[in-house]
Amino acid sequence: MKDASPQTIYLTDYTPPTYLVDQVDLTFRLSPNATRVISRIAFRPNPDAVSKRFFLHGEELTPISSSIDGAPVTPREVEGGIEVDVPDAPFVWEAEVEIAPAANTALEGLYMSNGMYCTQCEAEGFRKITWYPDRPDVMAPFKVRIEGDEPVMLSNGNPTGSGDGWTEWTDPWPKPAYLFALVAGDLVAREDSFTTMSGKHVDLKLWVRPGDEGKTAFGMEALKKSMKWDEDVYGREYDLDIFQIVAVSDFNMGAMENKGLNIFNTSAVLCSPETSTDANFERIEAIIAHEYFHNWTGNRITCRDWFQLSLKEGLTVFRDQSFSADMRSPSVCRISDVLSLRGRQFREDNGPLAHQVQPDSFVEINNFYTSTIYEKGAEVIRMLKTLVGDEGYKKALDLYFDRHDGQACTIDDWLTVFQDATGRDLGQFKRWYKQAGTPRLRVSEDWNDGTYQLTFTQTTPPTPGQEVKEPFVIPIAVGLIGPNGDEVVGTQVLEMTEGTQTFTFEGLAAKPVPSILRGFSAPVILERETSAQERAFLLANDTDEFNRWEAGRSLAKEVLTALITGKEAPQAIYFDALASVLREDHTDPDFRALALAIPSADDMAQTLFDSGVTPDPDVIHDATETLKQSRAEYFQDMLPRLLSEMTVTEPFAPTHEQAGKRALGHGILQMLTRLDGSKAAQALFDRADNMTLSLGALACLLNAGKADAALATFRDKWQDDALVMDKWFMLQVAHADPDKAAETVTRLTQDPAFTMKNPNRFRSVFGAFAGHPAGFHQKDGSGYRLLADWLIKLDPINPQITARMSGAFETWKRYDGDRQSLIADQLDRILATPGLSRDTTEMISRIRGA
Ligand SMILES: [Zn+2]
Repeated sequence: MKDASPQTIYLTDYTPPTYLVDQVDLTFRLSPNATRVISRIAFRPNPDAVSKRFFLHGEELTPISSSIDGAPVTPREVEGGIEVDVPDAPFVWEAEVEIAPAANTALEGLYMSNGMYCTQCEAEGFRKITWYPDRPDVMAPFKVRIEGDEPVMLSNGNPTGSGDGWTEWTDPWPKPAYLFALVAGDLVAREDSFTTMSGKHVDLKLWVRPGDEGKTAFGMEALKKSMKWDEDVYGREYDLDIFQIVAVSDFNMGAMENKGLNIFNTSAVLCSPETSTDANFERIEAIIAHEYFHNWTGNRITCRDWFQLSLKEGLTVFRDQSFSADMRSPSVCRISDVLSLRGRQFREDNGPLAHQVQPDSFVEINNFYTSTIYEKGAEVIRMLKTLVGDEGYKKALDLYFDRHDGQACTIDDWLTVFQDATGRDLGQFKRWYKQAGTPRLRVSEDWNDGTYQLTFTQTTPPTPGQEVKEPFVIPIAVGLIGPNGDEVVGTQVLEMTEGTQTFTFEGLAAKPVPSILRGFSAPVILERETSAQERAFLLANDTDEFNRWEAGRSLAKEVLTALITGKEAPQAIYFDALASVLREDHTDPDFRALALAIPSADDMAQTLFDSGVTPDPDVIHDATETLKQSRAEYFQDMLPRLLSEMTVTEPFAPTHEQAGKRALGHGILQMLTRLDGSKAAQALFDRADNMTLSLGALACLLNAGKADAALATFRDKWQDDALVMDKWFMLQVAHADPDKAAETVTRLTQDPAFTMKNPNRFRSVFGAFAGHPAGFHQKDGSGYRLLADWLIKLDPINPQITARMSGAFETWKRYDGDRQSLIADQLDRILATPGLSRDTTEMISRIRGA
């Protein structure tokens, strides 16, 4: 158990490591309950050190022996590790420790998943393997020998030896310990190869459990595309003889970029048309790219300390987003990215967990693998690229790789590279890293005899620990559209630097309609008084696809808000405009599917809260149902024709083209199900030959309350496939009636296939529950109690997942006093649990505001 009064770590307390490492040699003697780890580490004093203290991190290690230059020593046990007296000269540290992977349910360090050995070391898991300076600014080459009777035993780098019961791996590239990996078990590989831009041959292996070979083809193709893209777009070539991916069922994260040996959650790599949806394929392609891209942005150039986490994550998310845009449709990808940014990061920024892209302090770094560090970090880089232009960005990135290869760097290093490469002062821009909160951008317009003016005012609300904010540099992409629908001014990027700023457009023949924040050029909330007619006009005429979608989206929100607050809703304007978009045969079906989607309950709750209305999840749910029903009736006549147009007749392929048709087809089917007694959904479920259609039809049947038979059939068919069963669990919670959601969760947790030890399974039930506001926020507090019960149960087993799932409570201050006090009771109950982990203590305390 971790200590109960957790310590806060501050960025300003950073000091360089006192000793550097020249070489690490590790030997593992594998055994589920008593693995021996023998380390031989060559240290030398760091000339930049400010102290002489020799400290090694270590947690939950049983010491066997230790020596310095061959002479036995007895280390002093101190908080978080050991201290030893060492010579003021290079020396060799040797130690042997024992660990118990089978008892490690936290899935951090070396643990076992279904009888297979596996590691997760980021951020601070290596200290559970052996004593080491477990901080990212200590980089060293590793050589690893693994002894055991597992058929396959892998580590980072190139294979440099093997024999009966042992293998040896050598990683020539200096790396921090968080990138260490070891995997051993009964595995089979899909093998392939890649020839790099300089003609180097690289072996590619994707390791899975026997039986899963059929789900590896797409992942391998995605890997090869990523390798090629990084060469073409960033000039980055792969640097080892082999690149390996391993799929693991019990994994806290999506995937991990360990040097040369990426470890993936099975859900983030295994896929086939029969078992995976289009969304799964898309996500898998993006995650494989993301982890591969880390080889340069993260591994070759790493972070000096964990306050710099966004240096690797923001940049790598930006890179994987750009990759997906190139592989699929740029505007559809952009819309999806923004939906997820608003759904997760804006939500975070608006609540008690708000923090900077570069935080000043943390208690448990695992709690900072957040949407702010990742997605907002990517937005910041996107803005930087917009401001310096494509050429400037390319020059800066070349300089970054050139100057910092092999180093552990800071966000300041990153910005300095841009200043040096482009001559631009980024002093004010840096505020995007140092100020938390989502800026509100208020716009007013003025028209006078051919001159059109836009005046912007930016304000950023206070966030925990930051009351006052300075103005940001905001790139605002704007276009102007004439009254007849023609674009009169093409996209321009206005650079806002002041609190209030006016931009003028001269020589216009008539008052234009502005299209502001095209492509979502900055992560801000745009506030503009405008009419439903104008939104409908932009939905019909804007040349910027993102803003077209945005216009439809805000129209939908306006209608929903009116229904919720009992005002007259501009329903006819919305339905007419949307119907025209749906009929546009030449427009990407995926875009049309996104235009059709109704804002989520959580999105509506935040929208209402922002406009000063206390959201009631029940009322939002009912209004959404009303809107969906009247929309289905309004569109009645066009549905059968559209549905048949969206039917894919070719064999399944996870392409953007086919996926778009299936997505729009699903939107149509949802409407049709409300009108035809679910006949079409049942027919589709009966004949579906791929998971996208099968799951889509099942969701429609659940909504109609007619899914009992289909759920049973589905379960019978897929009971042996864990990833498909996750979907079975998730769907039942996500589509439960609000007053039955808690009951559904309870019933599912009693299912023999439920286990809280598997993060995917736990998330499939409780993640879906937290994502169902009307079910979770039942007035009697039953949802809060149920989640709190399970968090308390899970915490001793897996603190990381418990802490992450606590985020379900982060929006509690939006709601009414009764709900707030019911939630406060549960937060206090969790906090009062004896032995609560550091992870969960920090998260719940921050949410509670204690
Ligand atoms: Zn990453």
